[in-house]
Amino acid sequence: MAESQTPTDKLARRGLMFILSSPSGAGKTTISRMLLEAEDEIKLSVSVTTRPPRPGEIDGVHYYFVDDAEFDRMVEEDDFYEWAHVFGHRYGTPKGRIRNALKDGQDFLFDIDWQGTQQLYQKDQQDVVRVFILPPSIAELERRLRSRGTDAEEVIEARMERARSEISHWDAYDYVVINEDAQACFAKVREILDAERMKRQRQTGLIPFVRELMS
Ligand code: 5GP
Repeated sequence: MAESQTPTDKLARRGLMFILSSPSGAGKTTISRMLLEAEDEIKLSVSVTTRPPRPGEIDGVHYYFVDDAEFDRMVEEDDFYEWAHVFGHRYGTPKGRIRNALKDGQDFLFDIDWQGTQQLYQKDQQDVVRVFILPPSIAELERRLRSRGTDAEEVIEARMERARSEISHWDAYDYVVINEDAQACFAKVREILDAERMKRQRQTGLIPFVRELMS
């Protein structure tokens, strides 16, 4: 086969489900944004939530914001891969077009909690890559939560409480990265994504190419 015909990663492999979880305030949203900006081949799986939008959040971009009745309807119609209660609201991953897109080599980024991660992993171990982001310290986590200035005091306390319990699930992840500095953390997360894309099991489209090399 001539060099110009070497198959590209995009053509040759199955997409993956790249999960980023962390306690809120550990910087996962920033890292997600950096990844989406830098990588054309990964798309965000936009979740559905019953939580009201925060300032600046856009329906269909950050979340699909729905009321309880709509969420109930989606549960009944089996529209979710997984869903969970978080901070008194419900959050779910809509099935949408994910399954077919994976076959075409499209990667998806999931910003979901440990409950959703567990459910997705049970359904699809082959495609799921689980990354957990830790804050450098509990004091820094609290400082970051407060500096957002969007949540009331009791919400912050509830989030700190939940952060501790969220961190206790770190052992259900494949990779753990400490977010001391966003750029450095992003670089590590990107290395994980690159390496996972090259896993032999994902590169099923390479089989004819490798056969040719061996012949
Ligand atoms: P926030 O309200 O701060 O955007 O998100 C709160 C928590 O809900 C975060 O830990 C986030 O990862 C989680 N979350 C967001 N979307 C989903 C989802 O679709 N499923 C699950 N299980 N958790 C989600």
